[in-house]
Amino acid sequence: MDALGGPARLTEPRLPAAPEDPFTGLCPGCRFARVVTSRRTRFTLCERSFTEVRFPRYPRLPVLNCDGFVPAPSKDAPSADSDR
Ligand code: SF4
Repeated sequence: MDALGGPARLTEPRLPAAPEDPFTGLCPGCRFARVVTSRRTRFTLCERSFTEVRFPRYPRLPVLNCDGFVPAPSKDAPSADSDR
C-alpha cells in the first residue's frame, strides 16, 4: 500500500537531475565564441585562437576570467545590414 492507502505501484527509478548546462561562464556572451554542435556533444570554439595562440581553440568551460572577452552584440541591436 502507498502512503494514501492505495495499492503500491512500481515506478521507474528517478533519474538524477540533468547536469547543469556546461555552456556557462563568459563565453556564451562573447563575440568570439562559436558553438559547435555534433550529434552527441556541444562545445565552444574560441575564434580568437585563430590569431592568438594564447587562447585555446576549445576553452575549458566555464571560463570565468578572460582578457579577450568582448561582449557579443545584442540580438536586439540593429545590424549593419538593416540600414539598407
Ligand atoms: S575570447 Fe575568452 S571569453 Fe571569448 S570565446 Fe574566447 S575564451 Fe571565451
